[in-house]
Amino acid sequence: MSNREEKHLEEFERRLSGDDLAPAADEAQRVSWFKRKNKGITTSTSEKKETPDGLWVMCPSCKHTGTVQELKDNLFVCPSCNYHHRIGSEEYFNFLYDDQQYTRLFDNILSKDFLGFTDLKPYGKRLEETISKTGLKDSMSVAVGKVGGFDLVIACMDFEFIGGSLGSVMGEKICRAADYSLEHRIPLMIVSKSGGARMMESAFSLMQLPKTLGRLALLADAKIPYISLCTDPTFGGTTASFSMVGDVIIAEPKALIGFAGPRVIKETIKKDLPKGFQTSEFVMDKGFLDFIVDRKDLKAKLTQLLDLFQH
Ligand SMILES: [Zn+2]
Repeated sequence: MSNREEKHLEEFERRLSGDDLAPAADEAQRVSWFKRKNKGITTSTSEKKETPDGLWVMCPSCKHTGTVQELKDNLFVCPSCNYHHRIGSEEYFNFLYDDQQYTRLFDNILSKDFLGFTDLKPYGKRLEETISKTGLKDSMSVAVGKVGGFDLVIACMDFEFIGGSLGSVMGEKICRAADYSLEHRIPLMIVSKSGGARMMESAFSLMQLPKTLGRLALLADAKIPYISLCTDPTFGGTTASFSMVGDVIIAEPKALIGFAGPRVIKETIKKDLPKGFQTSEFVMDKGFLDFIVDRKDLKAKLTQLLDLFQH
């Protein structure tokens, strides 16, 4: 191979691997094509467009393809196989509360990095980024309004906020929601959607377990109903505390509910896990749930429950 051919081949490989596109000699000339004049994303949040309604989405379960609007109209449940897509607190508030009328509570409480914790990035920075990316203040939002004409306080988690993790703010919001329920004698519902405790808050996160349970016990003493709705996924600190102690415990179909994940359990007990392990249907069969309810029937079921509780 001639010297020239060899050089050509080397160059070809380098370009293919993307390792080093620009050897010093002709860098300026080559790079000018790819130069980004403005750094980062320059669209301000207010100018961002909503997801276009004509956009297509595919169901991860049955591969049914439909538009976002179609899915939205069906409360984010697949019309073909009844797969329940994960949704956030705002969606739950909007379809549960009458005429989408509700008041948000305790939005002023924010997480703080009191341990100076750093994993892949400092916790403080992670919080800042998540707040600006999701537009949420923390992994839990609380609201009060009427469901089928009955008052209900709903504390609902958002999985997109650091995996719906249970930190000090979630604990505090649950306690304040319970206080609000006590003071106004209104039933409380917690919608769980969490991977577990917020590791960046270490022991402070674990302290939320007894703290929330203590407060919920006050509701029980005052005979104010507490409903727990487990959605996909309900894991770790949530199942170890408030998610499993409701007067009524309900779940969405095929939601994953458990404490540790299946891989950890399998490795610990060195046995294959039964089919459908940790789905709501399995958990229901073992006696941990009162009933499973489709999202489209949830409002009617809640109304029925609240009516029963009141009379
Ligand atoms: Zn489907």
